Order: sequence, then structure tokens, then C-alpha cells
Amino acid sequence: MELNFLSLLTGCFATPVAENPTVAMVEAAYRAMGLDARYINCDVAPADLGDAVRGARAMGWRGFNCSLPHKVAVIDFIDDLAPSAEIIGAVNCVINKDGRLIGENTDGKGFLASLKTVIDPVGKRVVVLGAGGASRAIAIETALSGAASITIVNRDAARGKAVTQLVAAHTSAAAEFVPWQGKYAIPEDADVVINATSIGLFPGVDDMPAVAFSTVRPGLVVADVIPNPPRTAFLKQAEARGARTLDGLGMLVNQGVIGIRLWTGREPDAKVMRGALEAIFGV
Ligand code: NDP
Repeated sequence: MELNFLSLLTGCFATPVAENPTVAMVEAAYRAMGLDARYINCDVAPADLGDAVRGARAMGWRGFNCSLPHKVAVIDFIDDLAPSAEIIGAVNCVINKDGRLIGENTDGKGFLASLKTVIDPVGKRVVVLGAGGASRAIAIETALSGAASITIVNRDAARGKAVTQLVAAHTSAAAEFVPWQGKYAIPEDADVVINATSIGLFPGVDDMPAVAFSTVRPGLVVADVIPNPPRTAFLKQAEARGARTLDGLGMLVNQGVIGIRLWTGREPDAKVMRGALEAIFGV
């Protein structure tokens, strides 16, 4: 019998990283696939990122995720960028293709895969609350997938306008910026509203984005990027008004699915992955 004790190596470079649950979800998928593969959380300081990437390359890692604060800085240490990662200007997933490190952004793609389970974005009018990294990835991918318009609602006007301009410059969607003052009234013709801010993330679980809930109509798709807790106060309020809701676990699971597909060339079981996260978050 031929013996092989060489595991396929993947992981995550971030700091802090100890509370990042992706490892549980990815390793559950690897086990279910019968793969001898590992996913290792590595706490990497900004000054050490270059060494970490060179180390991963030297050790033949199949790829790795990058989380805060490395999503932009990692670009300096890899060989090439996938098209949407180039537009977004951030990388959260690196794939080792025959020794070349390719940067992808699976944040927006993961969100999109989750969104498509409830609505086809083609021709839809989409409102994105927030203008940080998650918003930027979601706005670009949703626009590239054929949304008719993207409205960015943000407190900080400069950041909001920057995302709006990115959408206008690189996609065919109409792009609009709305300054976030008081309670945001959702336009009557909106099809999808996404909380892409950090409002509602544990421990601030009672906090909600300032939205006039009277403008949430039945059938509107309301999504949240917050993975912890999965059922945010925002989603509960929207659901009470008849909205179709989508939680942040869907985005997280689908990002993981895309990453594993890119690293292994095989299809993981999304249900196993969601189950691992639900066990962690007590859903
Ligand atoms: P950033 O720090 O880059 O951006 C945060 C955004 O939230 C900014 O637009 C900021 O507005 C806005 N914001 C924060 N607090 C408030 C407030 N009180 N009122 C109005 N706006 C506010 O964060 P990221 O984009 O990287 O991440 C956002 C969230 O997305 C995080 O909670 C993260 O957990 C989640 N996420 C989830 C993923 C998933 O797979 N489910 C993947 C990636 C991220 P301003 O510009 O005005 O300061």
C-alpha cells in the first residue's frame, strides 16, 4: 500500500484571528469530502505579512484567506489578481496555481451566491447600507451580475461616494450615493436592501441600522452581512414587516464554498458547512 502523510494546507492570515470561525466550517467540509486537508488560523502582524506569504509559498500551501487588516496589503506579495478583486482593490482569498499566487475576492461572490437563493439580481434595484470593505465587494459583484442600480447609503460621504464612483466606472449599473441622515426611507421601487455595515455585530446585538421600518414592504428582500448573531435585530424587524430575509451566515458559507472549490477543484457540501457554523452560533 502506498503511504501518503502529506496534507493539503490552507488557512487564514489575520490579526486578531482567534475568534474567526471559518476554520470550523472549512475543516468540517474537508472531513465530509474525505480530504486529507487542513485549514489553520495564523495570527499574522502587519509587519510579518510578507514573510507569512513567502512561508505559505515555500511550504506549498494550496491557498489561504486574508482577513482584517491584510486584505489590501497582501496584494503587494502575490503574483496576479482576478478581475473583480482588481476592481474592488482587496483580496480575501489567495489560490496557489502551479506556484503563482492569484488573489480573489470571495466576499461579494459569496454574498451573491446567497442572494441568488432568494432573488435573481438581474435588473433589480439594490440599496447597500454602508461603504466599507464588505459594501464595496457586494456593490461591485451585484452590479457586475446585472443589477439595474446600486444605491450606496453611508454616514461618511467621502467613503460613500468612492464606492458609488467605483460602481459607475466599472459596471453598467446606475450608481447613486445618498448621505445617511436620520432614518433612511427605503425607496418604493427598491427590490433588495442590504445591511453591509458592522451595526448589530456581537456584542452590540440590539443595535440596528437607522432605517424607517414603515418603508419595508412585504416581499422586499432584506439581507444582513452580520454573521454573529445570524438573526440580527434588523432582520427580525424586517421579517415582522413581511420582508424576505437573508442572514450573514449564507454569505460566509458561500465564500467558503468558493474558496474550497478554488483550492481543491472539488465541490464541498454547503449544508455541512452551514451546520458547523450553526452549531457554533447556537442556531
Ligand atoms: P468597515 O469597517 O470597512 O466598514 C464599516 C461600515 O459600517 C462603514 O461604512 C461605516 O460607516 C458603517 N458603520 C459602522 N457603524 C455605523 C453606525 N453606527 N452608523 C452608520 N454606519 C455605521 O467594515 P467591513 O465592511 O469590513 O465589515 C462590515 C461588516 O461586514 C462586519 O461586521 C463584518 O463582520 C461583516 N462581514 C461579513 C462577512 C460575511 O461573510 N458574512 C464577510 C465580510 C464582512 P462610515 O463609513 O460612515 O464610518
